[in-house]
Amino acid sequence: MVNKVRVRFAPSPTGGLHLGGVRTVLFNYLFAKKHGGDFIVRVEDTDQSRFVEGAEDYIFKCLHWCGLTPDESVLHGGEYAPYRQSERKEMYRQYGEQLVKEGHAYYAFDTTDDLDAMREKLKASGSSSLQYDQNIRMQMNNSLRLLPDETQALLAKGTPYVIRIKINANEVIPFTDMIRGDIEFDSNNVDDKVLLKADGMPTYHLAVVVDDYLMKISHAFRGEEWLPSAPVHILLWKHLFGLHAMPQWAHLPLILKPDGNGKLSKRDGDRLGFPVYAMDWQDPATKESTKGFKEIGFLPEAFINLLVVLGWNDGTEQEIFSLDELIEKFSIEKVHKGGAKFDFEKAKWYNHEWIQKLDVSNYEDRVKVIFESKGVLITDAVYFTKVLNLVKGRCTLLPDFYTQGCFFFQPPASIDVADIKAKWNEPKNLFFVELIRTYQLTNSWEHTELEKEFKEIAAVNQLKPGELMGPLRIMLVGGKFGPGVFEIAAMIGKEETINRIENALSLLQ
Ligand code: GLU
Repeated sequence: MVNKVRVRFAPSPTGGLHLGGVRTVLFNYLFAKKHGGDFIVRVEDTDQSRFVEGAEDYIFKCLHWCGLTPDESVLHGGEYAPYRQSERKEMYRQYGEQLVKEGHAYYAFDTTDDLDAMREKLKASGSSSLQYDQNIRMQMNNSLRLLPDETQALLAKGTPYVIRIKINANEVIPFTDMIRGDIEFDSNNVDDKVLLKADGMPTYHLAVVVDDYLMKISHAFRGEEWLPSAPVHILLWKHLFGLHAMPQWAHLPLILKPDGNGKLSKRDGDRLGFPVYAMDWQDPATKESTKGFKEIGFLPEAFINLLVVLGWNDGTEQEIFSLDELIEKFSIEKVHKGGAKFDFEKAKWYNHEWIQKLDVSNYEDRVKVIFESKGVLITDAVYFTKVLNLVKGRCTLLPDFYTQGCFFFQPPASIDVADIKAKWNEPKNLFFVELIRTYQLTNSWEHTELEKEFKEIAAVNQLKPGELMGPLRIMLVGGKFGPGVFEIAAMIGKEETINRIENALSLLQ
C-alpha cells in the first residue's frame, strides 16, 4: 500500500511571518491537496529563549487569511496531537537516551565557561571552525572522554548536561532532494549538535526528526536555509528509525532581494518600502510595528499567486493562477533550484490583475472599512458597488479605491484651480455658466445625454470640447484622474454636479 501523503509546516513562533514562510506553506499545501494528502501545522516552540508571545496566534491568522487551512494543527486538532512541541516534551528524552545507549550520542557536562574557553582555544590555534566537533570533543567534559564511572557519578550528582550527537569522521552522508537531486555531505564539516538541552527540552534537530516520524510525515519541504542541518537529520533518521522510514526532502529556493544579492529580509522591505510579512506584526517587546501585505491592500488570491511564481512555473506563459488551478498544476519537480528575486512592482501587478478578475463582492467589505476609516460612511450598498466597478480598472492596492472613488461620496477636499486657471478665459467661463443652465433643465440624467449636451454647447460657442473636459473633471473630482467624466456626473447626480461646477467657478473669479 502506498503511504498517504502527509506534509507539515513547522514554524517556530518567533515573530512575523515572512513571505518565504508563506510560500513554504503554499508548496506544502498544494502538494498535499494535489495528492489527496494531509497538511499539518506543527508549532516548533522548544527554544524558549526565542519564544515570542502572540506569534503562534498570528501565524494561524495569516494562514486563515491566505485560505491555506491545515487539516491538523494546534487549532484544528488531529490524531497526532499535541501539535505544539513544548507539550510533547516528555516524548523526546527516550530517543536521546536511545542514541546514547547505542553509541550515536553522548552526555556533555561542559559549562558555559568551558565552552567559551574551548572557543578561545580554537581561535588561538587558528582553527577555521569554533564548533564542538570531532576534533575537539575528546578534550571536553563529556561521556566520550570520561570513564563510565565518572560519567555515572556526575549524572548521579545531578550535574546539568546536554546530549550531543556523535558525528563520525570521514563519512559521506548522501541523500536525494526532490528539487536538488543527489547531494552528499562530508561528515567532517558537521558539528556535534546538541539534541537534548539541560532543561530537558529537545533542540529543533531532535524534535523535528522525532515528530516527523511520529506524525508519519511522508514529505518534508522547507527553506534552503535548512540544508546545512540536513546531514544531522539524516543521521538521526538512520540511527533512530532506519532510512527507509524517512520523508522525502525538498529544500525550497530562497527568495532573494530585488537585486539578487542575498536573501530578502524584513530590513530590505523597510529600506525599499515594501512589506515582507504576510500581515501586520507588532513585536510585543519593542512595540515595533511592521506592515503586512494584507494591510497595505493585497488580496489573498494575489498574494498566493505572486508567491507561487517565486521559484515555480508550469512551463507555459501563464501567470495568473487560482488556488484550485494550482492544486491541479503544481508539481514539486518543477520548482527551480536557484533563488527567485522579489520584485515589488510585479507583486503589485498581480494584485491589480486579481482586482479585475474577481467580482467586487470578494473585497467590498475590506474596501468599505477603508472608506469608513477615512470618515466616509457607506449607506447605499448598491451605489457603493457601482462605484467600485467603475474605478476598479484604476486600482492596484485596495486603498486605491478610496483615492479613485472618494469624490463619488463627497466633494473633493481641494480643487487644482491653478491647473484650470492656466488656460482659463471668459468664453470658457460663459460655457460653464450655460452648461449649468442646460443641466438644470435636463430631464434624463444619463451620461450619454450629458455628454451630448456638453458637446452641443461647445459647438455653438465654437470651443473645443477637449479643452473643456479637463476643467470639468477637475471641478468634479479635484484633479486629473478618475473614470469618464460624464459617468462621474451621472453617478453623483444633478444637484451635486451643478454645485461642484458652481463652487469651482466661484474659485476662478
Ligand atoms: N522550525 C523550523 C523553522 O522554524 C522548521 C524547519 C523544518 O521545516 O524542518 O523554520
